[in-house]
Amino acid sequence: MDNILPAYDDPLFSILIIVVLILIVAISSYVMGNFKEERKRKSLEQFLHRFNTKECSLEIEEMPFQSTLIKPLSLLAYAFKNQGEYQKAINLNLYLIENIPKFLDKEHILEELGQTYLKAGFLKRSEAIFLEILHKHARNKKALYHLGIVYELLHEYDKALETIPPLKILGEKTETLEAHLQLNRLLENKQLSNPEKVEALRTLLQNKNYAYRRIMKALFSLDLTVAWQSVERDKIESILDILWFLPSSNLNFDIISTDETLSALYLAKGVLESKDVTPTSNIFAIDTIISAQKGGDREVDLNFSYGCGKCKQHFPIGFIRCPKCYAIDAIQIKETLAKKQSQTGYSLL
Ligand SMILES: [Zn+2]
Repeated sequence: MDNILPAYDDPLFSILIIVVLILIVAISSYVMGNFKEERKRKSLEQFLHRFNTKECSLEIEEMPFQSTLIKPLSLLAYAFKNQGEYQKAINLNLYLIENIPKFLDKEHILEELGQTYLKAGFLKRSEAIFLEILHKHARNKKALYHLGIVYELLHEYDKALETIPPLKILGEKTETLEAHLQLNRLLENKQLSNPEKVEALRTLLQNKNYAYRRIMKALFSLDLTVAWQSVERDKIESILDILWFLPSSNLNFDIISTDETLSALYLAKGVLESKDVTPTSNIFAIDTIISAQKGGDREVDLNFSYGCGKCKQHFPIGFIRCPKCYAIDAIQIKETLAKKQSQTGYSLL
């Protein structure tokens, strides 16, 4: 032993051993880290190979890659996505992902790619991208959230609901999102009879996480009596268009006559006759129509458009999730005065 390690009882020798051990650990973890990163890169390359399409119209594949290109090309891809030029955005994102070596550096570009596929309606591709991100980074909130949207659009609500617990663990407020998905699942549940759905919806009206407008819309198509009983005075504006477009045969005059806002609404629509005391709704457009009728003008009607409270975009038709930013329960009903058209009385249900 003395011949092999002549100075093993020397304190300096112990220090040398410790230094050598530290070096071995450092080198092996460096090699293992590189090996893992390389393995991730190769699996990602194989994965993305599936998405390389010939219909891409930008010819950038031959362009030599430089790290200084990452920022401008990412911004360009983002701009293309917002302009609806999805194929160009996808092409740029794929180019960047293929050329950036480390997963961490291209994680946000993969998120963008997944979101672009989602916007473009390639839901299965979007699902695959978000699953791939989560496979490598399970705590990616953006990927989890968007994966939930993909499953919702695919009507796979059970899978969408599976994204809720991890989001909750990651500190996200998920009550409204969970309620939104549960309501989707309830409304599309073919195992439940209509009375069972109505009963469930009545219960959900007590839960503030559930969207009143969505529940009322469903109730008006399932059970008129329960729907009318559930109309809440201070929430009429959120269902104004639904009430306005109800066919006359679906109106409950017993309930309407007991509420001034509802009376004003249907007086403005021309369903009710004017009485000695004119009801007021405190809704500008409705009260203006009633005033115009008093002045003899019966050609004023209401038009509706829909805004998103989050991204402030406007749309001509209503939505459950904002088509632009995917916000839920963000719909804002905008009523405007218009000249009466000959075709009236269609229902939103
Ligand atoms: Zn929006």
